[in-house]
Amino acid sequence: MLEETTNNANIITTTITTTTNEPTLTQYEAERNARIQKNIERMKSFGIDDARKKVMTMESKHKNNATTSLLSKKRVKKRSENATQMDRSKQPRRTSSRVRGEKAPDVFVPDERNLWEPTYNEEIYTQRQVSNLGDRKSEWQLFVSGYDQQGRRLYDNNRGVCCHQCRQKTLGTHTTCRKCNMMRGKFCGDCIFMRYGENVLEINENPEWECPVCRDICNCSFCRTKKGWMPTGNMYRAAIASGYKSVAHYLVLSRQDDEEKAKLCEEEAERVAERLQREEKRRIQENPELYAKEQEERRNRPHWLKNKK
Ligand SMILES: [Zn+2]
Ligand SMILES: [Zn+2]
Ligand SMILES: [Zn+2]
Repeated sequence: MLEETTNNANIITTTITTTTNEPTLTQYEAERNARIQKNIERMKSFGIDDARKKVMTMESKHKNNATTSLLSKKRVKKRSENATQMDRSKQPRRTSSRVRGEKAPDVFVPDERNLWEPTYNEEIYTQRQVSNLGDRKSEWQLFVSGYDQQGRRLYDNNRGVCCHQCRQKTLGTHTTCRKCNMMRGKFCGDCIFMRYGENVLEINENPEWECPVCRDICNCSFCRTKKGWMPTGNMYRAAIASGYKSVAHYLVLSRQDDEEKAKLCEEEAERVAERLQREEKRRIQENPELYAKEQEERRNRPHWLKNKK
């Protein structure tokens, strides 16, 4: 230890003497150079410097081999093969068939129809679907369940239930399908009444009730589109005015596969429609003041209820 310190002291003096000859070096720089030199000497004495050099040469060797050593022999071979294949001078020149003077292939055009016009599948219902139509014992009051005092729908992202038909997430009574027990079996009271002629209160007391999707009579825009049929839009009033119990009854009964039965249903619906008209006429004649009041109320309705029943 003692020997070492004396040794180091000698080095400092020698380095200082050599560096002080140069005029550009300050005293600090000279001292720093001396410290560096001292460290190198110390590393040499420990044998660390040799080890450092060894590691550095190993590192550079590894770097050179890194890309090829990471690949398997098979891959290296394939790479060299690909490289020769990519040599374009050995390949035939690529040209388009038009440049080579070949005739263009005929393009298949199916028919003369307007491609902008969407095409729909024919809408015909089986007798099984006819028998799957629902019914009700009592009427359902529209625009009450799931509406506020002003007649606005109560939308609620958290507590609301999404109706399969109108796709609105609202409060109010909804159906539950006992067969699929899925979201597709959730219909709001108004939709199940207007579109299928059923009463949600009666439905929820029936432990065997199946949703319109499970019964294959769903007429929501999503299900109709899936079958290649045009969505119906809001046609409740038209269906009722035609003498049918609901939109589903109108669609299924008037387009069933048995034409004889379809005709009978239409005749029956016509009779119902006439009866409804007669009843409405009589009601107006019997109580014109009440009718006028109703009409006035309808006119004064807020815009979101203007087109409703
Ligand atoms: Zn709905
Ligand atoms: Zn269902
Ligand atoms: Zn549907």
